Amino acid sequence: MAAPAAVAEARTRDAALDRIKTVVGPKGWIEGADAMRPYTEDWRGLYKGKARLVVKPATTEEVAGVVAICHEFGIPIVPQGGNTSLCGGSTPEDDGTAIILSLGRMHRVRNLDPANYTITVEAGCVLADVQNRAADADRYFPLSLAAEGSCMIGGNLSTNAGGTNVLKYGNARELVLGLEVVLPDGRIWNGLRGLRKDNTGYDLKQLFLGAEGTLGIITAAVLKLFPKPTDVRSAFCAVPDVASAVTLLGRARAESGDAVETFEFMPRLVVDLVLKHFPDTHDPIQTRYDQYVLLELVSTSSGESDLAAKLESILESAFEDGLVLDAAISQSEAQRQDFWKLRENASEAQKLEGASIKHDVSVPVSRIAEFYAAALKKVMAVDKTVRLVAFGHVGDGNLHYNLQAPEGSDGKAFLAQWERFNRVVHDTVVEMGGSISAEHGIGRLKREELAHYKDGVSLDLMRTVKAAIDPKGILNPGKVL
Ligand code: FAD
Ligand code: ZN
Repeated sequence: MAAPAAVAEARTRDAALDRIKTVVGPKGWIEGADAMRPYTEDWRGLYKGKARLVVKPATTEEVAGVVAICHEFGIPIVPQGGNTSLCGGSTPEDDGTAIILSLGRMHRVRNLDPANYTITVEAGCVLADVQNRAADADRYFPLSLAAEGSCMIGGNLSTNAGGTNVLKYGNARELVLGLEVVLPDGRIWNGLRGLRKDNTGYDLKQLFLGAEGTLGIITAAVLKLFPKPTDVRSAFCAVPDVASAVTLLGRARAESGDAVETFEFMPRLVVDLVLKHFPDTHDPIQTRYDQYVLLELVSTSSGESDLAAKLESILESAFEDGLVLDAAISQSEAQRQDFWKLRENASEAQKLEGASIKHDVSVPVSRIAEFYAAALKKVMAVDKTVRLVAFGHVGDGNLHYNLQAPEGSDGKAFLAQWERFNRVVHDTVVEMGGSISAEHGIGRLKREELAHYKDGVSLDLMRTVKAAIDPKGILNPGKVL
């Protein structure tokens, strides 16, 4: 028989959950392990957590009401957007004490101000919808990543997402002017201002950007918009090595008047995996090469565009100097999309191929070739049957330095070496002044790695901030710190 104290505690908890259900109404909650599964398991299938309840508030006031009850009763909250986190950030722990607070029902565009070049959206807006709403108003929201059809703005801002346009427009953090946040005690902080200049003390919104839901729940944001591109030209280029790719990037930036929007690196293996798992994809260049770059120039000028000529001249001189071995230039939007399918399906293709270990790392752009080679040597010393699938945003110094299990293996022996692979790759990153998480965040996956590599003063400051804002530790416990 349960002890009287435990019975009383369970009754209080059930009463708290009933109050939460009342706040959000009958459409605002989901119960039962099967119904909650899309929310309790992560995209990669690495984490299978448990939750008391999935709560789906429809307004900021409802979010505040739910959080206030959780604060009163010490109920942990896992904020969730599209649940596309690649590091277990949006999945609850296995102890089943937390509720998941999904922002999916908060998807209103509250305001679009073309003259101010801003859009004010709720946290549950899907990224692709924000891009489309901006485009309808002849404006451009540049944040772009392969998960854009399901990830949500609140999740993008909470992970300070990167993606394929960082080179020109910056990370998610740089695209935000204002935020509305529900604090761990249920108070609403209204920082929803569309100002490009505001020096009235601490920039509080920065606390919540990239905080992975550990300091507050983002409910809305004012985002920066840009002039809509009038011309985009893409080239799929074969390059002799990573060093040549970096040289090509530097030249393309200078020669195009800094019009490079995208510079994505892909080894042959990525192209092969995408061609294998996605039937509707094509090899842009008939000859096989060891590595490629997807280079894209963009113009926003309304006059006559000379972008095509610029791209051709950049590639011609690069070809003469041996920086490019071969290239296909897109002749239509359909062909451009064909290039993109190879890049955008890279993560999914890796997943379909079987077990993999991901390293989302960055080093200064100037050291990326050195890093690529040094880490490969160490990885091969651990296990030379592993397949290196290192692709990504070379223009930002960011590689997805992923390792794929040997072909045909069940992945068990490979995954057993997870920590050894992590150690050699992350040691190399840190030796070169890099970061062990460039854009995906820390979540649960890299919590121990963060503690291992981050200096004591930084960790101390982070813990101080967490304790000051969330003293009861109810927001996304067990993540980041
Ligand atoms: P979730 O996964 O739901 O949550 C992510 C984190 O934010 C969690 O810690 C969660 O608790 C917190 N959170 C979510 N919403 C809120 C909120 N409203 N308030 C407070 N905290 C919140 N990432 C990149 O940066 N660049 C890429 O190129 C990229 N490519 C990807 C490709 C694929 C195929 C996939 C599956 C993922 C990719 N990601 C990439 C990772 C992921 O999509 C991004 O991190 C995305 O920004 C997460 O958004 P989400 O809405 O799915 O957030
Ligand atoms: Zn990426």
